[in-house]
Amino acid sequence: MHFTGTIWRPPYEAWSALIQVTAGCTHHSCKFCTLYEDVPFKFRMSPLSEIEEDLQELYMSMPDITRLFLVGANPFVLSTQKLKDIANLAKQYLQRLTSIGCFARITDIYNKSSADLKDLRALGYNRITIGVETGDDEALAFMNKGYTSNDIIEQCKKLDEANMEYNFFYLTGIYGKGKSPEGVKRTAEIFNQLNPKLVGASMLTVYQSSELFGEIQRGNWQEESETEKLTEMRTLIESLNIRTHFAALGASNMFNFQGRIPEDRDILINEINEILKKYNEDKLRDYRVNLKHL
Ligand code: SF4
Repeated sequence: MHFTGTIWRPPYEAWSALIQVTAGCTHHSCKFCTLYEDVPFKFRMSPLSEIEEDLQELYMSMPDITRLFLVGANPFVLSTQKLKDIANLAKQYLQRLTSIGCFARITDIYNKSSADLKDLRALGYNRITIGVETGDDEALAFMNKGYTSNDIIEQCKKLDEANMEYNFFYLTGIYGKGKSPEGVKRTAEIFNQLNPKLVGASMLTVYQSSELFGEIQRGNWQEESETEKLTEMRTLIESLNIRTHFAALGASNMFNFQGRIPEDRDILINEINEILKKYNEDKLRDYRVNLKHL
């Protein structure tokens, strides 16, 4: 299989077959991000011949797979035609394939019409994961995410119209010290207008190679305490009034938990309250500073 650099996939895609169709990220500018720094270029699209070789290999080792997850930071940036070609090629080798997922940026949807999205949905593209991180415009602008909260609403409504399901990644701690109570409420206002099937919360961990680390050194930004981050996550859970699945999974979260909203809301809130009771800031901070890799 052709894989370049560290391969990232959402925790809930653990049972999907992974295939590289892009490597790196077209944006590569979010201040907190260090995910693709070991890729020797900013972004690369895999040639179809390379994708076909990997599909042949997948066919030999697991011909019955039903879901493919295309790796790379944002394969959904590829043109509609290219994504169609990939799906059609995959179906030639994997007869039982029913769905295809990938990471996407909000900006990847800009140039896809509702008709394009419906075509892609018909070919199996579904449950894509969008790293929106927040719906707060101040945090989006400071972190250089490259889109606004209005863009999130407009583009995700196109996905809703095409019946293409999507998950959100939320980045706990993105607002900075003292700003989370307002920021997370603005985020809930945006998320509550949409239909993410899952809201997956990661927790901000600042690494020295990130641009955000430099901002902190220059005194332009202050990190939230771990207690503030957990309180922020609790406020998000309290404020979501849509039906969704909330998941705090992966290494960035010292404690992993998940549940349905609204059914399990009280259980999730209680989990966080218990953590806040049992662990003081020093103990929580120990975990963060010793987290060598996400
Ligand atoms: S957070 Fe996502 S979009 Fe931003 S630079 Fe990292 S991989 Fe690219």
